[in-house]
Amino acid sequence: MSEILNVEELFGSRVFNLGKMKERLPEDVFMEVKNVMETGGELSKSSANVVAKAMKEWAIENGATHYTHWFQPLTGYTAEKHDSFITPTDNGEIIMEFSGKELVKGEPDASSFPSGGIRATFEARGYTAWDPSSPAFIKDRTLYIPTAFCAYTGEALDKKTPLLRSMDALSLEALKILKLFGKDDVERVSTTVGPEQEYFLIDKEDYAKRRDLIFTGRTLLGAPAPKGQEMDDHYFGALRPRVAAYMHDLDEELWKLGIPVKTKHNEVAPCQHELAPVFDTTNVAVDHNQLTMEVMKKVAEKHGFICLLHEKPFAGINGSGKHNNWSMSTNTGVNLLDPGKTPAENVQFLLFLTAVIKAVDEYADMMRLSVASAGNDHRLGANEAPPAIISIFLGDELKAIVDSIIKDKFFKKTGKVVMETGAAVIPHFTRDTTDRNRTSPFAFTGNKFEFRSLGSSASVATPNIVLNTAVADALSQFYEKLKNVSKKNFESAVHDLLKETLKKHERVLFNGNGYTDEWVAEAKKRGLYNLKSTPEVLPTLLDKKNIELFTKHGIYTETEIRSRYEILLENYTKTLHIEACTLKEMLYQDFLPAAVTYMKSLTDEILGKKAVSKSISTKAEEKVLAHLSAQYEALVAKAEQLTKDIEKAEGLTDELKKAEFYHDPVFTDMQVIREIADDMETYIPASVLPYPTYSRMLFYV
Ligand code: ADP
Ligand code: MG
Repeated sequence: MSEILNVEELFGSRVFNLGKMKERLPEDVFMEVKNVMETGGELSKSSANVVAKAMKEWAIENGATHYTHWFQPLTGYTAEKHDSFITPTDNGEIIMEFSGKELVKGEPDASSFPSGGIRATFEARGYTAWDPSSPAFIKDRTLYIPTAFCAYTGEALDKKTPLLRSMDALSLEALKILKLFGKDDVERVSTTVGPEQEYFLIDKEDYAKRRDLIFTGRTLLGAPAPKGQEMDDHYFGALRPRVAAYMHDLDEELWKLGIPVKTKHNEVAPCQHELAPVFDTTNVAVDHNQLTMEVMKKVAEKHGFICLLHEKPFAGINGSGKHNNWSMSTNTGVNLLDPGKTPAENVQFLLFLTAVIKAVDEYADMMRLSVASAGNDHRLGANEAPPAIISIFLGDELKAIVDSIIKDKFFKKTGKVVMETGAAVIPHFTRDTTDRNRTSPFAFTGNKFEFRSLGSSASVATPNIVLNTAVADALSQFYEKLKNVSKKNFESAVHDLLKETLKKHERVLFNGNGYTDEWVAEAKKRGLYNLKSTPEVLPTLLDKKNIELFTKHGIYTETEIRSRYEILLENYTKTLHIEACTLKEMLYQDFLPAAVTYMKSLTDEILGKKAVSKSISTKAEEKVLAHLSAQYEALVAKAEQLTKDIEKAEGLTDELKKAEFYHDPVFTDMQVIREIADDMETYIPASVLPYPTYSRMLFYV
């Protein structure tokens, strides 16, 4: 570790970024690519050929032999199919080729990706299309080209396409608003995202011994270790050498890929850590987060670790999430969620802020849906992550400003707030960054919002699709109300609009503690959604207002929405099915035999002692044996119940009913089983258990 790392040279060394394009492309082609990257659109055919050639030469110089169109099907993972650059020639040799056509479009045989009924296998073909706004990179001797994935009939089969559409929609609507403010120089508004990623590291050998971790990513059984996270000694604690070495290696690998990871630290739970990059344009941030998760797992194996990205790998201690820091900024470099310094900037800021408030309140169900998964159901509302109720934290100062607008009263000076000077009706204030509320799902943190309900393993695309679209919609409604207002009346019209909108959506604002029962009751009174489980939230996707939102802005067609609904339901059901089957296998193949082994040794012990002398007491052994025997019986009975319930679930043809049945009773059965088994585990010696305990996994890394 003694050599000095040249990070500046390392950073982006495997990325065909703007810098490399500038070096390798003719000026006019470079300008064309740059323009497409920044403001969207398509590259001309001749330029695509030039770019492909330069890309290929760079890739080959850097050891690549293959290229792949890298895409994000609805599995939530990424997919790739590698083709080599070789083309045979007449004289039995080969040349390395890569055309503009190959760069721009690919045709993977995509019949096995989920399409939710959009595409039957007989018309399996879909195509991938280059997304020039996300740069190509080299990984494992392959040139990766970020692409969108569509059916031949045009429907999006991936997460990137709707994400790009949502970014365009937001840009379009934000530009119209900015024009009203006289910002004619702005050409594009981009949403920006900085996702903070949590994860666990455990020993590879421990992992290999646990079927539950292998098949489901989380432990289905396991008594708590004597110590958990109660001492708060892990959060921000010193990094253990093995973990530190992993993190260094990870940083380097991610830097090479141009991913600007900046922050790393230990998290609350033992063996839990976090990493965060500097924010980027949303689609780049989404691609980077997918890549980050993949590299995290790969580098872990090199260090003898397994990186767990599941939302709840261990019961009783915190699970892992992702914080989606989100804002909007102009191509002229203005963050639209920065309050600014002047009263005029304040007004514009308040309009964008109010659009977000309206959006989140009106589409709180979609926000909740965008983070719904079987894994994340364990976290939301369990006092370790935000509740399932979506609300917004603004902080005291901004809340006071909102209140003053609603009540038409100038608000009292709190802290560094200054009273309005120039503007007639809107109070003036400066940026405040105090955010001490970690219980809110959606918190304003000075110049951005932080959506904290995301699960650790999921793509960050979906939450951003919802957020971008809902905000675009609010902005479009604002534009309709303001477009014909004269300059003279503009600010008071904005004021009226803010007042009316804030009054209507005030109910979503909540600065208090989101973990309390009082909030659950209060939220109910306010009429906010509290959609606790995935089967409960999924049907809202088909509500009329939601279909209208997505179709109106061209994000999803109704067919695309219905297909996503099918896929989400199936994902939930399949996850639960795999978990239930894994639990059964673990019980019958690992746990119950271990319990028998130990009960047998207790029995032998008791009989042996009795044979030696009747006066030797066997009370203690008998007590344990009696307890274990009773629990064993209860456990087997519950396992039989689980088997029956799985069968029943699989017999259901209605996908929603099936998902609901997996939630209850199947999932409930699993929890009861776990309770009994975990109790038994505390009596069974570790040497008899066929898999490592929580103590072993969490405290020996
Ligand atoms: P914390 O939330 O731990 O206090 P920070 O607020 O510094 O940390 O940043 C968290 C994440 O928010 C980082 O990834 C950072 O790059 C990102 N971020 C900062 N500004 C923006 C922005 N304008 N848009 C999107 N993300 C941002
Ligand atoms: Mg944060």
